[in-house]
Amino acid sequence: MRLILDIKSAGKLLILLMMLTAYSSSHGGEFSARRPTHEGGNEMSDEKSAAISPDFEPAYLELHRTGELAERAEKLWKVLEACNLCPRECGVNRLEGETGFCQARGTRLDIASYHAHFGEEKPLVGRGGSGTIFLSHCGLRCVFCQNWEVSHSGRGQRRSKKRLADMMLQLQRRGAHNINFVTPTHYLPHILKALDIAAQDGLRLPIVYNTCGWEKLEMLQVLDGIVDIYLPDFKYWDSEMAAKYSAGAGCYPKIAKQALIEMNRQVGVAKPASDGIISRGLMIRHLVMPNSVSGSVEIMEWIAENLPSDTYVNIMAQYRPAYRAYDYPEISRMISNEEYRSVVNKARELGLTNLDVRGSWWLRD
Ligand code: SF4
Repeated sequence: MRLILDIKSAGKLLILLMMLTAYSSSHGGEFSARRPTHEGGNEMSDEKSAAISPDFEPAYLELHRTGELAERAEKLWKVLEACNLCPRECGVNRLEGETGFCQARGTRLDIASYHAHFGEEKPLVGRGGSGTIFLSHCGLRCVFCQNWEVSHSGRGQRRSKKRLADMMLQLQRRGAHNINFVTPTHYLPHILKALDIAAQDGLRLPIVYNTCGWEKLEMLQVLDGIVDIYLPDFKYWDSEMAAKYSAGAGCYPKIAKQALIEMNRQVGVAKPASDGIISRGLMIRHLVMPNSVSGSVEIMEWIAENLPSDTYVNIMAQYRPAYRAYDYPEISRMISNEEYRSVVNKARELGLTNLDVRGSWWLRD
């Protein structure tokens, strides 16, 4: 009797195991098919919840609701007919497929990569990372660019605006704290159209406009009420240096100064919330270069005189010669401790109180 029961139990167990195996292989197969690659599908079972406070509403949502975001996107799209999105003002007809100085091909959108980035400023990174989207090509084209494969050589893949919207939503689901567009200027119309789609589909992360700082005032005015965080470089004080290292962009200092004032007007001082995350404000980056070619001291003086003393300023120490920098002996080395410290000390003397000075420990003496 006992033997018969054991045989029955073993049989039941076997049937149960077979059913479980069949279930898991069919569902596992379906799940695998839907699991996204890096370039992103939408269905993920291991999603984190979005890293956003329920009290926070990004600037662009209101404009999306009223339809103005779509209108502004359309207005910028028309600019492509005689493109003057950036200070190069090439005037090429991108709607007809022409290519200007930045090398963005017609209306085509190329994206190099997107991911949660943990190397950005701490208040943008938090625990979930900054949801960074690297756009191909660039209108400034510095000779020392560390991302030259993306900015100069145009590495990236053609993507639709809907796909760009999906990337934003995927980064949100993965727990990023913001959507961080790197080098966005020449794709502004595409970005606004994609943002309108993403907002419709539930995006509510702040937008970071991560730029070289060479931004036309009239284009920034279109972004008023759309961008939450401006993250511009202030690269050069001297127009001769700007022209020399950035493909003739001698007007860089003048344009960058106007741009920083407008950005500050729109979003004000960047202040972290209780969790240390910044969701709105101006965050300036300045890269200290060898032999004072970037005019760091003058730039600190200008910031102290023209912007609030608690403006967030990241004084960056990580310059290293890249791309064609070795063609210019004066910028073909890293900076010294002394070069970096003198800029930081000057900024402190000037009364700037919100300095990000991480990263100097590894500098050589
Ligand atoms: S975005 Fe490109 S095509 Fe348009 S003005 Fe600038 S460099 Fe020229």
